[in-house]
Amino acid sequence: MANYRRNTAIVFFSILTVFLFLSIRQYPFAEKTTPLPAPAYQQKIYFAQASQEVTVHFISGRGKGSTLLVFGGIHGDEAAAYLAAERFTRLKIRAGNLIVVPRLNAVAIANRKRQGLGGDMNRLFDLSEETSRCNPDAKVVDLAKSLIQRADYVINLHQAYDFYAPKWISRQRNPSRWGQSNVIDTPIYHLPNGEKLEPGRFAQKVCRRSNDRIKNRSYHFLVNNTETSGRKSRHVEQRGSLTYYALTKHHKIALAVEATKNCSLPEAVGFLTIAINAALGQAGIQPDAFPSEDFRMISREMEEKTQKSKLSEFKGTTLTRS
Ligand SMILES: [Zn+2]
Repeated sequence: MANYRRNTAIVFFSILTVFLFLSIRQYPFAEKTTPLPAPAYQQKIYFAQASQEVTVHFISGRGKGSTLLVFGGIHGDEAAAYLAAERFTRLKIRAGNLIVVPRLNAVAIANRKRQGLGGDMNRLFDLSEETSRCNPDAKVVDLAKSLIQRADYVINLHQAYDFYAPKWISRQRNPSRWGQSNVIDTPIYHLPNGEKLEPGRFAQKVCRRSNDRIKNRSYHFLVNNTETSGRKSRHVEQRGSLTYYALTKHHKIALAVEATKNCSLPEAVGFLTIAINAALGQAGIQPDAFPSEDFRMISREMEEKTQKSKLSEFKGTTLTRS
C-alpha cells in the first residue's frame, strides 16, 4: 500500500514538473508567435454609378490610436492631391486609424477643373441649410462633414503655383502664393470648455518632419496661417473651407497641405506623400511601412498605372466589338 502511494506521488509530481517546465518554455514562445488580428479594411462607395461617386477607404490598425482623415481631389485641377491620397488606400497600420477619400470631387476631377457641379467645393462648408438645398454638391459636402466627425486630425490635399513665403521675396515667393505650405486657420483655437487646440504646433511639427526629408531647401514647407476668423483676415473666403469647418464645428486639428505646381507631377505627389507620412508620424499612427517618397519610384508607379488602365481600356474595346 505504501509502495502504491509512493508510486502515485512520484507520477503526480513528475507530471506536475513536466507541465510547469512546458508552461515556462511555452509562455514566451506563445507570446511571440500569436498572430495579431489583421488590420481591418473597409471600402465604401457613396452615390454609386453617379457622376459624383465617392469612394472612402477605412483602415483600422491592430492597436488603438488616433484617426487621421485625408481628403484628395476637392479641386479637380490639382492632380497630385488625388494621386498622392490614392497611395495610402491600402496601408497596413500597427496602431491608429486612417480614413482616405482620394477623389472627393469626382466631377471636378473628370473635367480637370477647380469647380465641380456646385462651384468651388472648398467654399461650400458654411452654406446655410436653405442655400445648401439648391446646391448639387451639398450631398458630397455632407458626406465629408460626417467623416470629419470620426477623425482626430484632418488633412485636405491641394496643389498651387509658386511658393508661399510670409514676406514678399519675389513674384514666385510671397504671402499671396500657396505652394509648399501647411495652411492653418489659426495657430491656437480656444474651445468653449476653456481648453485649447493647437493646429499651429501640429503644422510646425509636420513641416519640420517633412523638411527633414526634402534635400532641396527651396522646396521646404512653411506654415501659412490665414487667420481665417480674424477681423482683418486676408482670407475671409476660407470661412467656407473644409478645414475651417473641421476646426470650428468639430474641434479637429485640420491642415490644408499645398504642394507646388512648379515641379513635375511625380515630384508633387512625392511632396504630398512626405507631408502625409509626416502627419501620420506626428499623430502617432504607425503603418507597417510608409509609401515611398522617392520621385523616380513614384514616376515608375504612375507609368505602370497608366499602362494598366490603357490595357483594360483596350480589353474593353475588343469586348464591345465582339
Ligand atoms: Zn486646391
